[in-house]
This record gives sequence, C-alpha cells and structure tokens, in this order.
Amino acid sequence: MRFCTSSYLSRFISAAVVAALLCEENLMAQSSVVATPPASAPVITPAQMKESMTKLQHELVAKYGEDQAVRIRRGVHQVVEFWRPEDGDRTTLENFVRANFAGDQAALDTMFGRFQRLLEQLDGHMHEIAREFRNQQDLDLGPVRPYDEVFGGYDPAAHVMDDFFQNKLAFTVLLNFPLTTLEERINLGPKWTRRQWAETRLAQRFAKRIPAEVNLAIAQAAADSDNYIAGYNIWMHHLVDDQAQRLFPPKMRLLSHWNLRDEIKADYADLQNGLAKQRMIQRVMERIVTQSIPRAVIENPHLDWNPRTNEVTPASASDSDTPGPANMKVSNAPEPDTRYAILLKTYRAARLADPYSPTAPTLIDRRFDEDREIPEERVRAMLEQVLTSPLLPQVAKLIEARLGRPLEPFDIWYNGFRPGSKYTEAELDAMVAKKYPTAEAYQEDIPNLLMKLGFSRERAEFVAAHIVVDPARGSGHAMGAEMRSEKAHLRTRIEKAGMNYKGFNIAVHEMGHNVEQTFSLNDVDYTLLQGVPNTAFTEALAFVFQAQDLALLGLAAPDAKTDSLKTLNDFWGTYEIGGVALVDMGVWHWMYDHPEATPAELREATLQIAKDTWNRFYAPVLHKKDVVLLAVYSHMIDSFLYLPDYPIGHLIAFQIEEQMKKAGSIGPEFERMATMGRVTPDLWMEHATGKPVGADALLEATEAALKQMATQK
Ligand SMILES: [Zn+2]
Repeated sequence: MRFCTSSYLSRFISAAVVAALLCEENLMAQSSVVATPPASAPVITPAQMKESMTKLQHELVAKYGEDQAVRIRRGVHQVVEFWRPEDGDRTTLENFVRANFAGDQAALDTMFGRFQRLLEQLDGHMHEIAREFRNQQDLDLGPVRPYDEVFGGYDPAAHVMDDFFQNKLAFTVLLNFPLTTLEERINLGPKWTRRQWAETRLAQRFAKRIPAEVNLAIAQAAADSDNYIAGYNIWMHHLVDDQAQRLFPPKMRLLSHWNLRDEIKADYADLQNGLAKQRMIQRVMERIVTQSIPRAVIENPHLDWNPRTNEVTPASASDSDTPGPANMKVSNAPEPDTRYAILLKTYRAARLADPYSPTAPTLIDRRFDEDREIPEERVRAMLEQVLTSPLLPQVAKLIEARLGRPLEPFDIWYNGFRPGSKYTEAELDAMVAKKYPTAEAYQEDIPNLLMKLGFSRERAEFVAAHIVVDPARGSGHAMGAEMRSEKAHLRTRIEKAGMNYKGFNIAVHEMGHNVEQTFSLNDVDYTLLQGVPNTAFTEALAFVFQAQDLALLGLAAPDAKTDSLKTLNDFWGTYEIGGVALVDMGVWHWMYDHPEATPAELREATLQIAKDTWNRFYAPVLHKKDVVLLAVYSHMIDSFLYLPDYPIGHLIAFQIEEQMKKAGSIGPEFERMATMGRVTPDLWMEHATGKPVGADALLEATEAALKQMATQK
C-alpha cells in the first residue's frame, strides 16, 4: 500500500490528537514538568490553579444555572489542566474564563460557527501556501534551485499550535467543547449528533500541548533513524556462494528491506537461479536481524561476502564507479547492534511526550487510541483471526502446487497469484499516449471517466470542476484542498510521447483520492469533519478506482479468475504483514517494559518475539521453526509503530471493495461513503457496509476464491 496523499491538515491533527479529563493527581504531575518561566513572568502555582478552578466553577454555575454545570466543570477543568505559568497569573486565568465561557446555546452556536469557518480558512490557506511553495519541486517545471528547496521545506503552519495556545484561542475551545477518550468516542459516538461529532473533532485539535523541545527531540530521532535506514544498501553482485559464484548482476544495489523483499518477489520469475537467489537473500535478511552481518559489507562494493559462512574477502570483481579506499579493512566483525541502538533512541524520544499525554500515556496508546482510533486489543484480535485462519493451509497447498516444491520461509513473500495481462505493456502505452498526449487531455476527460464509473453527469461535472491536473515531476500524487474555495490537485506524470500506461494507472488511483477529497470536503455537513477516519480509508477508495483502469480504457474488465487471484494475493499479503505488525507491537511493549535495556538486550528480545510469532502462526503452515524474518522490516526501526497500519489497511480496503461489488455501481456508493467524514473507523465502516472494521470480508472472499480456483481445474 502506498500512502500518497499529502495534506497540511493531517499533520496538524496528528499533533493535536486526543486527551481527556485529568484527575487531580495528573494535574499536579503535569504542572511539575512544565518549563520554568522567565524570572519576571507572573507565576501561578498548582495550588493556586486548583483554588481558581473551584472558585470559577461555583461562580459560573451561579451565573448560568445548573443546566450548564456539567459543561462549566468540565470546561474550567480542561483550561486549568493545559495552563502553564507562562500563560499568566491567576487573575489572567480567572478573567479569561469569565470572558470566554459561552453560557447559553446561542452564544455556543455563534462560537462553534466562527471557529469552524475560520479554522477552515486557516487550514485552507496554510495548505495553499505550502502547495505553492512546493510547486517547483513537485511539478515538471524545470530546474530546482537551492532556494526552491528552502521554499519547499518551509512549513507555514509549524507554529500554529504554539500561537493558538499563546493567544488563548486554544483555551477558548478547551473551555467550551469536550475532550473525549477513545472509549467514549466508541461507546457514545454512535449516538452523538453530527454537531456533537464536529465539536469533538474541534476540541481534539487542542488536546495536546507538547513542548517544542520534545517535538524537536522526536523529530531528531526520526531523522537519525531515517538516515540509518536510507544508507542500508547491499551490493548484490558481491554476494558469493560456496562455489564463489555471483548470482546477482553487477551494480545491483538493494536497500533493506524493501528492495531485498521485492527482489525475492521478482525471483519467482527466474526459473534457473530464482530459488538460489531467494535463499541467499533470506540469509542476508537473517544476518541483518541477528546483527551478525559484517559491518564492513553494508553499502560497500569493494568487499565480497558469503552470507552463509560469513566470510569476507576483497572484491574480485568491480562494479562500482568509485575506487575502494586505500586502507580498507577486510573484516567480518559484526555490525555492533546499531540497528537496535537506533530503535532504542526512537523509543526514548517518543517517551518524552508521555507526560504531556496523560490519557494516552505511551506511544502505543497514542498510535492505537488516537491515530488509528481502533483499540489495540481489537487490532490484535483481527490480525490473529487472519493468522489462525483454517484457509491458510489450503492457500499454502495451492502455492506449493504452483511452485512444484515445499514452501520455504521466504515464501511469505510469494507473489505468483498475479494474472497475466491480455495486453503487453507496449500496447497499453500506445493506447494511453494516443488518448492522453497532455495533462490537459486527461483533465478534459475526467467527467467521462467518472460517468464510466457510474457517477451521474451532474455529479461527474461537479467533481471534475473541483480537480486541477498538473504535470508531476515524480510518479504522481493527489493533493486535496483544505477549504471549499480551493480545488484538489491531481499530479500525474506525462512523458514527452504522452502519458504511458503506468502513469495512467497511477493517475486513476490519484483521481480516486481527489474524488474522495472533493466529496468529503464539499459535501460533508460540517467542515470540521472533513476527510476520512485515516489514510487506510482514502487508500482503499483510491484502489477501487485503480482496479477499474482497463475498463476505463474501454478494455475488458477483469474476469472471475483474475478476481480470485487478486483475493488470494491480498489474503497471503495480509498473512505476511499481519505477523510483521504483531512483532512491531511486541517489541514496543517490551521496550516500555524494559526502559533501561541495552541494544544487545533489545536484539535478544526482538529475536525471541519474532521467533515466538513465527512458531505460533507460520511454522504450522510453512513447516520450519525459529525463523526471524518477521523482524526485517525497516519501518520497525524508523517508523514508531507504524506497521499495523498495513494489515488494517488491507482489511479496510477489502471491506470497501466488497461493498462496492454488492452495490453494483461505484459512483453513488462512493459518494455515500465519502461524505460520512472523519468519525471513528468502526462508525464509518458500519455506515458504509453495515459492519465494523474486521477480517470477515477478506476471509469470506478468500474462501470463495479457493472454491472458484478449484472449479477451474
Ligand atoms: Zn494513494
């Protein structure tokens, strides 16, 4: 899955996700960790704040009446728990609360309307500036000058959060609108009005106030880990087997883990050496995970390495443009647990935010309760439902039959359930180039494409009027608008000879994002609910479009067999990434349970977790024990518990695709789903499909696909 939308808002929201009411003890604890104010600033002590809080609560209830009492107690409490000494002394606090509490419905409606409208303007214009500043980098507009990169890297919204606490607009929201826990949003959310949902999302924007220095430390750890991962290349021509043979071509340089994994997938097509290559890559991956990989062979074309014996010798073949260093050490001394030292650093940085997030006090809680809004136990249960499915041995048997050999551990990356195309890539390229010689040609055709997908002419023209097609420098992306007066942008690659098939396939995917973005901004009832619950949902909707690319070219739509192959491919892919996600989760729990661990201890723990997960869910299917491959993903090192998003994304995509099939026509169903807005994933999915997020749709379709395949023979 590719996450390819780009939005200013998503960053703002992820920094601003939920917290809830604190108890008194937390209030004290938090106050003791705030930065010391300048000596001249007025100081407010925790005891004074507590006193002011009680006083204000009584005063406001006396003024506005008992029916406002719940709102008053909650609002004042929310202000006090975020108030820092630098925000002002007790007189400032008390005057602020008296002046800004909306004590009746009319005052509250006015406030809500004003915040909704102005925050849309803020988001929209910030996004507009960021988009314009990036244009030279993002679009096919000629050379990128050094100053273009500075413009592109500038984030006009970087200080919005700080500003809003400083000018106290954030406190106005906290005083008047409720913060909620995930539990409340799940249990009470289905009964809330749309306005209550909009108020909930408004308050959530200001539910965290993480000090700048903590954000900086987290960003630094993220950058350091990114750098470590980005330089982790293996020069494949320098891998030698026991007969000193080189299996891989010169200059092949593969980044761990993505390129290594994709090479395993590609090698299924190499009938002569594929298996030997796959086994060798598995060995390399295992040495990375166990850190027995010689440090000297990483990103080094001047040494040959036998991954089985771990022997390292000076390169006897040259495929690098740069000469080797004169005093190069030929050594197989292992990488000294750097992988795990880097991971520990990300953990320790993430933990710095814990005290400022009292109701989601660990990164694990923040990922599941705030970013995903699906409780961790439910995610675990969904993944285990897939990983223990009785369908797995059946699919494994099918793969064995197709490969003509017993499965090996790297076959978790089997990708042979791909149907052959009736058309060659060159034929498709020619068709697409003729149809779309320029970006304008694609732009003009958008209403037609949307009508082919089942949208009425009126809806197709409405959406098309909200999309601008730009020629992209890279492969393409979709950039939504953040205010209704702006348009969504579809960035697509146009070669000199016109658009090619790959470009078209991506453009259709991005157009799916743009259509979702247009409906979920312009047709949603409250702009505070703009969007979808998380990126998995917009990706799923984009894939629905992408799967129709041949039909949109007027070619035959996929047949039943193609559909079954795709289902089996998704099922096997979810099986693979589900275990990887469980290892990621296990490792983060272990780090939180062992905050003082050394890199070597973390390595041992990770190996154990990877083996346990393998032995429980994979050994019964692939018939080998104690494999550590599940720990090879680079995201585990640099992405702060991101991996569970992938299998959840597969499940969500599947549910949405199945619903589209049931509905028959994509257009109206797409619109109905996309205008629900950003509620919890389960509520969105129940509205869309009648069921919460889960694995049933994938498993049912897999069972049907297996039956369909059996009747084929
Ligand atoms: Zn996408």
